[in-house]
Amino acid sequence: MKKVKVELDSHSYEIRIGADLLARTGLWLKEKGFSGKAVIITDTTVKDLYGDTLSQGLTNAGFNVTTLTVSPGEEQKSLQTAGRLYRDLARAYAERTTPILALGGGVVGDLAGFVAATYMRGVPLVQVPTTLLAQVDSSIGGKTAVDHGQLKNIIGAFYQPMMVIADVDTLKTLPAAEMTNGMAEVIKSAAVMGGGLFNFLDVRVVKAKPLDAAVLEKIVQETARIKAGIVEKDEKDSGLRGILNYGHTIGHALETVTDFQLQHGQAVAIGMVAAAKISSLMGFLEADDALRLKDVIRRAGLPTEMPDLNVAEIIQAMQHDKKVKQDKIRFVLLKSIGEAFITDEVSPSLVEEVLLGRE
Ligand code: ADP
Ligand code: ZN
Repeated sequence: MKKVKVELDSHSYEIRIGADLLARTGLWLKEKGFSGKAVIITDTTVKDLYGDTLSQGLTNAGFNVTTLTVSPGEEQKSLQTAGRLYRDLARAYAERTTPILALGGGVVGDLAGFVAATYMRGVPLVQVPTTLLAQVDSSIGGKTAVDHGQLKNIIGAFYQPMMVIADVDTLKTLPAAEMTNGMAEVIKSAAVMGGGLFNFLDVRVVKAKPLDAAVLEKIVQETARIKAGIVEKDEKDSGLRGILNYGHTIGHALETVTDFQLQHGQAVAIGMVAAAKISSLMGFLEADDALRLKDVIRRAGLPTEMPDLNVAEIIQAMQHDKKVKQDKIRFVLLKSIGEAFITDEVSPSLVEEVLLGRE
């Protein structure tokens, strides 16, 4: 098992990464002084796959376990579902000291995290991410939220978990498309702050070949370490954490314009390639490095070319994005692979040129 520490003033915690961790989670909670009730919040798919293993481990460690489920899917990140969970927590007599374990992908992590942050003004939270995306990104850093209407993550709280358990065995059942999506965020983290991780990916990511367990464990560990390092310096997302939006300015716009037909990872992949191109055209990044990045993205099974879309609409969607200041668009650009910065100096016309493939 590998450990990554997240050192924060208020409360530090550990990310535990490795195989066969679900069954041991109960013991670790007991070691931390917990006893009595424990509540697992998960979705029905993940419950069928891993609910028993986690629950049995907790029971063996002496906990009285309640499992609450939601249907899979982003629609569940709502106040309505949160409301139902509060009711069920109260019915299960969950107390201020009752830990909630969020078992699942980013949706469950955000929703259960939000519920843990607000039920009785906050109960202990353990993130047990089961998607690559959640293991390397969303479970770390304490962002919890639900959607409201069309507005994603608009109601939420910063609420740090007391532990993150990333059991890489759970990734074996993850659909290939979900795995590829998660790889987009892995490559993103490497591009902005992990030159060493990028070199590792460059060697290990081979087209159409699944990653073996040991490689995956290393990738999760290194990516988690990058995220943890950034969160430590900017817990409440007031600056540095913004570099994790690399590829996301264009990515979000592509998701909007395609009405979410393009998956997040795919949109971010195209966004990263375009942002690298912009970085090199503005003289920050060597053209060769932009190509290296593009090549790893391609080998990970992600798209690198702009789909045939209306570029004006994409630019407009970007200008509606919150990262806009006057008519310039806020971008995360690369100085090299492993070094990023945020700038407001990218002109819409350059973005247009790059999106049109004229450059
Ligand atoms: P994310 O936001 O992390 O991509 P979601 O919470 O939206 O993840 O989960 C994506 C889908 O994958 C959901 O349908 C969920 O039930 C399913 N899922 C999550 N973890 C696993 C797993 N380890 N194996 C198989 N399916 C999983
Ligand atoms: Zn993302």
